Amino acid sequence: KAKSHGKNSIQIFDDSLETAIIKKVNLLKKLNAAYEAQAFELHYQPKIDLTTDRITGVEALIRWYDEETERWIPPQEFIPLAEESGLIIPIGEWVIEEACRQLGIWHQLGFIQLHVAINVSGKQLKQKRLFQTIVNSYKAHKLRPQHIEIELTEEVFIENIEQNETFMRSLVEQGISLSIDDFGIGYSSLAYLRNFPVDTLKIDRSFIKDIPINDNDVSIVRAMLDLAENMNLKVVAEGVENKMQIGFLKEHYCHYAQGFWYSKPLSASELTDKLIRNHSWM
Ligand code: C2E
Ligand code: MG
Ligand code: MG
Ligand code: MG
Repeated sequence: KAKSHGKNSIQIFDDSLETAIIKKVNLLKKLNAAYEAQAFELHYQPKIDLTTDRITGVEALIRWYDEETERWIPPQEFIPLAEESGLIIPIGEWVIEEACRQLGIWHQLGFIQLHVAINVSGKQLKQKRLFQTIVNSYKAHKLRPQHIEIELTEEVFIENIEQNETFMRSLVEQGISLSIDDFGIGYSSLAYLRNFPVDTLKIDRSFIKDIPINDNDVSIVRAMLDLAENMNLKVVAEGVENKMQIGFLKEHYCHYAQGFWYSKPLSASELTDKLIRNHSWM
């Protein structure tokens, strides 16, 4: 109907806004149903120790298979909505429990060094029992705290600071490690590195993409590696896709890397196969 009003008609805008709202409401309904039906899965991307070229851990990444459209809906399409609607709380609890359950299986298979990194969104930190959920889950699956790593993005260092800091201190006192995800793209204040008990920086993929070709990115990554070294932090380079990037990162003593060059995120059974085939990686 709006089309008849012509290309620049305000009707078109209204129409598409309406469409966007309907789409969002539908997606939210589907997301609810997906949660009820347990339609989520975790995939796992290996993290490689660059000094040994071995897998030291995996990052758990949520996947949603939509039966209706028969496609995988990427997290970027539903995590924001889950955050907005509050569904991130139960979904997030499921992620923590499932990641620990699966790591427990790998440990039973003998891969006892393996650890898992779990993404936790700022909204989840509003929930008082989050810390207890994490502790209960790793204990229930006979894991030790050093096998668990929590990834937070920079917003948690800006909003709700007091409560978030308490959460982070509890984690660290418990022996769980804490990473800053997508480091560098969020807030340019580095003060939080001084004030919060972080132990790992994950350099955002956008800085890694064009090294060693782009001089600016080379300077930025070097600066991040220097900063980390001076502050005694570990570094993970995200989104490594080629050999040149690896060469640069090794040359500059970056500790860990993740990316398609080593492996895409894999289903639990694919990762199990990979671990078994690559004893040498353990
Ligand atoms: P992230 O935590 O920064 O995860 C890294 C993302 O980069 C993943 O996308 C991964 O598949 C992708 N990636 C890894 N290596 C490469 C590479 O070499 N090249 C390219 N182009 N991409 C690479 P994914 O799985 O789509 O997840 C996107 C984001 O969704 C995550 O970013 C994270 O912020 C969020 N997310 C995923 N799972 C969860 C979850 O369980 N809970 C929460 N709260 N957020 C999640
Ligand atoms: Mg992450
Ligand atoms: Mg990231
Ligand atoms: Mg990200």
